[in-house]
Amino acid sequence: MDALDVLMNLQKAFPYYQPIISADGHNIFGYEVLGRIETDEGIQSLGPFFHDPHVPDEYKREVNEHLVKIALEEFMNYEEETTLFINVNPNTMMEDSGDKLIEILSSYENQGLKHNQIVVEIKEHEYRGDISRLAHLFRYLQTHGIKVALDDVGKGSSNLDRIGILEPNLLKVDIHSLKKKQQTLAYHGVLYSLSLLARKIGADLVFEGIETNHQMHYAWRNHGRYFQGFFLAKPDRTFLPGDYFKDRFRQDIHQFILMERRKIEAQYELSSRLNEYIQKVLKETKKNQDLDYWMLDIAQKVSEFCFRIYICDEDGFQQTGNGFQKHDGHWALHPDYKGKNWSWRPYFIENIIRMNDERKGILSDVYSDIETGELIRTFSYPLNRSQFLFMDLPHAYLYEHDVIAW
Ligand code: CA
Repeated sequence: MDALDVLMNLQKAFPYYQPIISADGHNIFGYEVLGRIETDEGIQSLGPFFHDPHVPDEYKREVNEHLVKIALEEFMNYEEETTLFINVNPNTMMEDSGDKLIEILSSYENQGLKHNQIVVEIKEHEYRGDISRLAHLFRYLQTHGIKVALDDVGKGSSNLDRIGILEPNLLKVDIHSLKKKQQTLAYHGVLYSLSLLARKIGADLVFEGIETNHQMHYAWRNHGRYFQGFFLAKPDRTFLPGDYFKDRFRQDIHQFILMERRKIEAQYELSSRLNEYIQKVLKETKKNQDLDYWMLDIAQKVSEFCFRIYICDEDGFQQTGNGFQKHDGHWALHPDYKGKNWSWRPYFIENIIRMNDERKGILSDVYSDIETGELIRTFSYPLNRSQFLFMDLPHAYLYEHDVIAW
């Protein structure tokens, strides 16, 4: 259907609603308004119309206003206290600084509509203009009580500093791509960064495009507060009771909690086994004046689970070379690393303080080793108050003990 046909058949265009479910209340938090049109070939999505850069902005604006008005009418007849997510084009909205939308919303105030029941979804990468003007629009909508969601985060060119400038209330992340090739470490890393950033700027994460239980689990693990996708509910012409997903959600999340618990318990178990083992090894290893020799003596006894070993002081200065296990199982020394400082690494200072406080070793999170590219963990152990042993555990060992996160 071409753009003009859509405009000529406006009376055949209407909104569909896709529920967005909350992980804390297990209830329907809101609905995204999605445009549909009745054609000779059946009901079709208006998505292609709205995302076609060749369709004039005025057309999009007119069709969207039509949909929003119907949605608001219907929303006012819906008894539940929820939120309506409205997609807007940042370029058309910029023309009147959002005043037109505010005017429409205000006309429903006497029917009980509150501005904080509205979330405006904006795709930052569709915007053609200066980012500071868009940030200004966000502030303006927010001062009117309207929430702003950044749509399609991680898909377009939107980078972290732009998200920081815009300070949206919500970040919508499409998890759909996870099904394809992008199930890579880099993708996990991007999501992890997004969840940290969201927390820092006080925004909530909405995961959309959830089509499988696995994706929902993944969204939950990545601190999604709201969930949307075919796995939960397809877009429909009508609204649902607010607690429609409650039982099912409770069951699903309970499963996720059990799995998470098993994973964390496995980590604790490994950590305490390593602690006991290292304690024993240290008792059996005669202390040598030469720290490198002493460390290599220890290394012989941890060959089963360690491929790299070194000792640092409490400021992070490496006191030894790097002991590394060769392919034949023998240990060798890279003296170049002696004197390097690792205090800049994530959690370094905190872990030293923890080790001194608890007098026991710590198993790190999973990360990519810079040299080998393998996913590894480090086990660090306090030798005394100012010397700490660091042991890198290879991927194969972690895999075997089921402490490698996906
Ligand atoms: Ca959207």
